[in-house]
Amino acid sequence: MTATVIDGKAFAAKVRGQVADGVAKLKEAHGITPGLAVVLVGEDPASQVYVRSKGKMTVEVGMASFEHRLDADTPEADLLAVIERLNADPAVHGILVQLPLPAHLDSDQVINSIDPAKDVDGFHISNVGLLGTGQKSMVPCTPLGCLMMLRDYHGSLSGMTAVVIGRSNIVGKPMAQLLLGDSCTVTIAHSRTKDLAAVVRQADIVVAAVGRAQMVTGDWIKPGATVIDVGINRIDNPDGGTRLVGDADYESCAAVAGAITPVPGGVGPMTIACLLANTLTACCRANGLPEPEGLTA
Ligand code: NDP
Repeated sequence: MTATVIDGKAFAAKVRGQVADGVAKLKEAHGITPGLAVVLVGEDPASQVYVRSKGKMTVEVGMASFEHRLDADTPEADLLAVIERLNADPAVHGILVQLPLPAHLDSDQVINSIDPAKDVDGFHISNVGLLGTGQKSMVPCTPLGCLMMLRDYHGSLSGMTAVVIGRSNIVGKPMAQLLLGDSCTVTIAHSRTKDLAAVVRQADIVVAAVGRAQMVTGDWIKPGATVIDVGINRIDNPDGGTRLVGDADYESCAAVAGAITPVPGGVGPMTIACLLANTLTACCRANGLPEPEGLTA
């Protein structure tokens, strides 16, 4: 079998198009422009690239983009004061604090100071609780992107067996909650899971969110299963240079799976698309307007 490639780049472009349509309608019918504020503390090069790219795409879909760059040694009280101002600013509907934060800052304290209604990353403890109890929440962007791709490919996920490898708060746990919400039978695997290959082999849906290059191989995959590869790992090429690979060994998994997301060009592009979708959703909720269809869990 040769797997269908789930093209996250194309799907993300479609989602951004839907968001842009929603933004245009909001402006036209209500004179409202959704706004996303991104706060970056320090000069981590990867974070700077993410923030630039988020700002560019925010503007491309017609939203207002606000960037707050703070020095690496910014005291926590100063960062909290910036967030407090953004919480109170009616032009800001979404707030994202770029992680990781410098070590002297308490990430939990900082994230939990964001107004949950503006927490477009879905990391605030209130949103975590709402998602866990099946209530309307802001949903973390990467798992939301994975869910959208799975729904688009399969239609209903009801009754499917899903294995999520990884139990982080930003990917693994919310992913499992979302799959449960769509009536999958869900197993969460992690570094202590015994005979991981046998566990994964049960799955109709495998979500790999581990951070270990090409760990999941084709002999772990049930024939016809769908593999969603969240991992982003940089490895050396045999003939020099480096390249990005996922947590799944693409060649061997694609030979057995029914469908698979590539790396790059799979889950990655969906993450920013879902950040924009969440900002539009937050803006609609803040103004008591109907939420955009198909862009939330
Ligand atoms: P974390 O490091 O926070 O979590 C990794 C998880 O993998 C942990 O739960 C860990 O288990 C588990 N794990 C580690 N080794 C093994 C193993 N040998 N067998 C089984 N499980 C194992 O990572 P994140 O969740 O933040 O990210 C995961 C990957 O996804 C990374 O490559 C990251 O770069 C990528 N990522 C991609 C995004 C995108 O936009 N595409 C967004 C976010 C992340 P334990 O808890 O027991 O330690």
